[in-house]
Amino acid sequence: MKKKVIVIGGGAGGMTCAVQLRKMNKELDITLIEKGEYVSWAGCPTPYFIAGELPFKSVVHYQPDYFEKELNIKIEVNCKAERVDFDSKIVEILKNSQRESIYYDILVLSCGSTPIIPNIENLRDSTDGIFRLSNGEDAVKIKKFITEKEPVNAVVVGTGFIGIEMIESFRKLNMSVTAIEKADEILPFLSEKLKAPFIKKMEEKGVRIITGSGVKKVIYNSNNTVIAVVLDSGEEIKTDILLLSIGIKPNIELLNNSGFKFTDKNRVITDKYMRTYIEGVYAIGDMIYIKNSIKGIYENVALGDVADKQAIIAAANICGEKREYKGVNGSSATSFFEIKTAKTGITLKEAEQLGYKAKYINLKVFTKNPGFSDSKKAEIEVVYDEEDGVVLGAVMVGYESVAQFIDIFSIVIYKKIRIEEFIDFDFCYSPTNSTVWNPLLALYRKYMKAED
Ligand SMILES: Cc1cc2nc3c(=O)[nH]c(=O)nc-3n(C[C@H](O)[C@H](O)[C@H](O)COP(=O)(O)OP(=O)(O)OC[C@H]3O[C@@H](n4cnc5c(N)ncnc54)[C@H](O)[C@@H]3O)c2cc1C
Repeated sequence: MKKKVIVIGGGAGGMTCAVQLRKMNKELDITLIEKGEYVSWAGCPTPYFIAGELPFKSVVHYQPDYFEKELNIKIEVNCKAERVDFDSKIVEILKNSQRESIYYDILVLSCGSTPIIPNIENLRDSTDGIFRLSNGEDAVKIKKFITEKEPVNAVVVGTGFIGIEMIESFRKLNMSVTAIEKADEILPFLSEKLKAPFIKKMEEKGVRIITGSGVKKVIYNSNNTVIAVVLDSGEEIKTDILLLSIGIKPNIELLNNSGFKFTDKNRVITDKYMRTYIEGVYAIGDMIYIKNSIKGIYENVALGDVADKQAIIAAANICGEKREYKGVNGSSATSFFEIKTAKTGITLKEAEQLGYKAKYINLKVFTKNPGFSDSKKAEIEVVYDEEDGVVLGAVMVGYESVAQFIDIFSIVIYKKIRIEEFIDFDFCYSPTNSTVWNPLLALYRKYMKAED
């Protein structure tokens, strides 16, 4: 009999895993269960879809029949996995108000995460103009609201990467935007120096940034439509659309219903093969905690590339290979209009907390020939261990190739390379692509005191 694999969740991790399983094994009986309307959707392009810059196809790549016809993967949409009986290997599903039980040999959990709902007075569940952005369906709802209601003022609560990208999206749609951040600063991984151009760009684009104050209360009109928010400071801000993006929490409701034994504080932790403690049950993506290879602690890292990689590794292991997932070292990137930032590894403060004798170098560099009229300097900060010169973290703010340079640092950190070794790297150079002294070599020179 064919081995039966059930994948729960049709987002980044679940869909990638199902497709990879099919590529690796034509004989498996694969069923994917998704509680929402779409599968193979991507969260990352949604701010640009809402702004009208990317088509719907960039958000929802394929319809279910594509996977059924082309890849022989059975897709169940609008179908919620409610409980798993791990002893009998049965998933209980709810579809069209009908309950059903499906048997599995192998179960892959990729249930994702949900935005945290802030504690705000008078926040109603279902109302016009209040949104969270977590998936393709949310993106479609936000876009429909904007098209139909033509909001003029927007408030974005939370200035993480999703908040920042949505502020840009709303500005591109000509809304007047207020960003509200309860913490005392935005982008806390950036030093004051690196943060300054980012904030300047936000102000240039007309964004009002309020830090150190949360939203206390929401005000509606008689049609149940949001019209204003009141801040902790007492200030009232008019708004026609309110986006709540204060962070996410892993989706573990299914596991709570199924008697899953969490190792620590409701955290799902797998081994390096993406296996949970239950035989035949794998877990990947936003719903799990993974090891940060520098900090040595488990963190919830909600990133699409991380989920995809874990999906490939889980699929390989299900198909009998022994592939290990090596964890993360904290790489991520975002942008606001033309200004970009990316980071990897740890900050100076984190390095000091971890007991490193840490130092940092700050460097302003061009990323292509400075003679071009559009050439602008980028700024990099690199944290290293003073004792051996091993790089611990890097962060960059600039206009071009920012994530690509930080990716090089990610490899440097992963391989525990010393700044002194940068001179051994052979980089590309042409005036449109780089500078003769690649930023890493410029950093080497500064480190070796060859340059101020
Ligand atoms: C606006 C936005 C921007 C982002 N930008 C980036 C970026 O630039 N770079 C980056 O790396 N990442 C980004 N991400 C994060 C990325 O989208 C997620 O990390 C990724 O989607 C996680 O994949 P996943 O499979 O773990 O979960 P998801 O993709 O969230 O998929 C989980 C799926 O499981 C379904 N599900 C949950 N419970 C059940 C159940 N009981 N039964 C059936 N189905 C269930 C859900 O409906 C969902 O479709 C962004 C996310 C958002 C929202």
